[in-house]
Amino acid sequence: MGIEAEQGTRHEADSVLHSWCVPAQWDAPTVVGGQGAWLHLADGRRVLDFSSLAECSHLGHQHPALVAAIQAQAAQLCFVTNQWGAQVRAELAEALLDAAGFAGGRVFFTLGGADANENAVKIARLASGLPQGAVITRDRSYHGASFLGMALSGDTRTQAFVDAAALHVHHVPPPYAYRCPFGSDTPAACGEAAAQAVAQRIDALGPERVAAVLVEPNAGTNGIVPPDSYWPALRRATRERGTWLIADEVMSGFGRCGHWFAWQKHGAEHAPDLITCAKGLTGAALPLGAVIVSAAVYERIARQPLMAGLTYCGHPLCCAAGLAALRTYRDEGLIDRSRRLGAAMFTRLQALQRRHTVIGDVRGGDGLFAVLDLVADRASRAPLAPWPQMPAALSALLRDALAEGLSFAARGHLLILAPPLVIAEAELDQALDRLDALLARHFPS
Ligand code: PLP
Repeated sequence: MGIEAEQGTRHEADSVLHSWCVPAQWDAPTVVGGQGAWLHLADGRRVLDFSSLAECSHLGHQHPALVAAIQAQAAQLCFVTNQWGAQVRAELAEALLDAAGFAGGRVFFTLGGADANENAVKIARLASGLPQGAVITRDRSYHGASFLGMALSGDTRTQAFVDAAALHVHHVPPPYAYRCPFGSDTPAACGEAAAQAVAQRIDALGPERVAAVLVEPNAGTNGIVPPDSYWPALRRATRERGTWLIADEVMSGFGRCGHWFAWQKHGAEHAPDLITCAKGLTGAALPLGAVIVSAAVYERIARQPLMAGLTYCGHPLCCAAGLAALRTYRDEGLIDRSRRLGAAMFTRLQALQRRHTVIGDVRGGDGLFAVLDLVADRASRAPLAPWPQMPAALSALLRDALAEGLSFAARGHLLILAPPLVIAEAELDQALDRLDALLARHFPS
């Protein structure tokens, strides 16, 4: 049948090799459309998307401003390489520099998050004069599934595929305050200790050998939300040692954590040197990532060859989606809205924690992003299943939720709440009511 197959009559499992799953076990409904926070399925059902798909559809589904901008750009100019200029690429770069407060900096466009991180490392190494300079990242981080992305990540699922040390990547323990690897008593102390661990690793390697430190400032795939003490201490430690600091804002950017970029919570004096972003950059309407480079970094690389980039980087259609997304965040006040609704969601989740003993910890709340850490025992904080296994009862909860028209993200024993920033307040409340009932059913106290 192939291309003659009638739309909607084929099941992807027969032809597509899907990402991040056991291929033979893949089984998911077909999505045919969407509106706001809702996905429309081929069988006529509607599902409330409480994860923004892969924490990327910040503007919900089929936002009219994005659809119109892509259509208008397609009618004018679909594609031109970086050898030529494109008006929309320049406009988006300016808007990103403005959002970051990086006057005098530059933007390097990529196709997504992994290659944004790869290029940020390349640029930082170039700016350090260390083409193979050391890069420090964290255990239990996620920075992408390309080979350098896997090396940068501290992800047990993929670490066997790559020799991080051969790529000069060094991992340090994370600021995971709930189970602090440094044995600290308070979140603040854990954040300080984790920043100190980075400082010690730079000193041990020799600051003259280290090109960059790359971390997620807030929300990340592995559900660690650093305490507020972490970022300022990390910025101080890296600045004192002359090491470039790269903020991976692929998940935390564009309002997800209540600011354009999560680090902005700590003030402009704690700005990183490079920012990587993707996902919310276009509200996921088209694939696009970016490395936002400070003026200081730009000055160091401006007169050297920059041997970087893929054919489609800075694709005008994707830039048009990015520009429309940035304007929508601004015009609809979505960054502030995320902060406001995120605080309300966090309060409700803390109330759920009081009722359901399975919830050991509630993290996040800076915007519409929160993590429920499910435990076997509150006193010992033992996770409901060893990381990164998903507990059977959580899988069952997710299945029931989907059958009832509600979709959550989960990783291991962590339930991740990240609805689109445009979700209606009534929809948010309904979803949390439903979660309350699902927790009671699957984890009776
Ligand atoms: N960095 C972070 C913090 C992420 O969460 C992700 C994806 O989830 C990536 C990088 C990789 O982005 P992409 O899947 O667009 O390559």
